[in-house]
Amino acid sequence: MTSNPRRRPQMRQVTVQMIEQVTPRVRRIVFGGEALAGFTAPRPGAHIKLLFGANPNEPPDPKKLRSQMRTYTPRKFNPETNELTVEFVLHGSGLASTWAAQAQVGEALTIAGPGGGMEIPDAPKTMVMLVDESAIPAAGAVLEALPTSCQPIIICEVEDAREQRSLSSTIEVEPIWLFRQEQAANPGRLLESYVSSVLAIVKDFDDLFWWIACEASAMRRMRSQLLNKHKVSKDRLVSRGYWKLDTSNHPDHDYGES
Ligand SMILES: Cc1cc2nc3c(=O)[nH]c(=O)nc-3n(C[C@H](O)[C@H](O)[C@H](O)COP(=O)(O)OP(=O)(O)OC[C@H]3O[C@@H](n4cnc5c(N)ncnc54)[C@H](O)[C@@H]3O)c2cc1C
Repeated sequence: MTSNPRRRPQMRQVTVQMIEQVTPRVRRIVFGGEALAGFTAPRPGAHIKLLFGANPNEPPDPKKLRSQMRTYTPRKFNPETNELTVEFVLHGSGLASTWAAQAQVGEALTIAGPGGGMEIPDAPKTMVMLVDESAIPAAGAVLEALPTSCQPIIICEVEDAREQRSLSSTIEVEPIWLFRQEQAANPGRLLESYVSSVLAIVKDFDDLFWWIACEASAMRRMRSQLLNKHKVSKDRLVSRGYWKLDTSNHPDHDYGES
């Protein structure tokens, strides 16, 4: 599984077409607009950049660009209608979360991308996905890209039972759900303690692949646990910090490798 090289993305003006409150903490927003014509169907694990607070009639100010941008998963793109679906976690504070919580149909936004994404050249027999709610959209996309010969084991850590939702409208899967609130757990802690349980339920260790996407410090601890304690080979593991506790705008390329 390899990542695509990064390239400078194209800016597109889009408008909100539809909003669905999927769970108390997740809003699905469908964007549309002519600027989405030619948007490449995203590869699993790809990302887009959303630019908040920019004047759509002026070129973005390069000095403000980084602080105004946030990274999201293009969950679905329909090339016939040029509609792009993004699922936002409403985590309480932050430019993107606040925007998504109050977004209205017709509102304009600038997006860039998609970029990155994964290739799955040698399909593993089993893929273990350890994700929190910010990476559930990406997990759904990865799931849909897996060959049928690959068995997915998906562990989703969310706030509480109301956050359980379908990962895909085309693939049936039964994730293992872990609820932070029940155990007053910090983000990522339940995923972390579940790693050894995963090892107990996996029947075939040959050809096992790990994909971790969640809070950055928890991702690092799990990565270290797998590499150092369980002797998982580096080429059988992709890990990515999707956000970082008490840090705004955590870099989008934190793979936990340094
Ligand atoms: C490749 C990639 C794809 C991503 N796809 C998605 C996606 O599809 N949907 C999605 O919701 N997120 C996704 N994320 C995560 C998203 O980019 C971050 O959560 C981002 O920080 C949100 O920006 P913000 O402006 O709301 O908050 P920030 O301004 O970045 O942060 C403000 C505060 O909120 C906290 N915070 C940020 N995110 C979370 C969270 N998820 N839960 C709890 N606290 C948080 C921070 O620690 C900080 O204290 C993705 C990240 C990456 C790298």
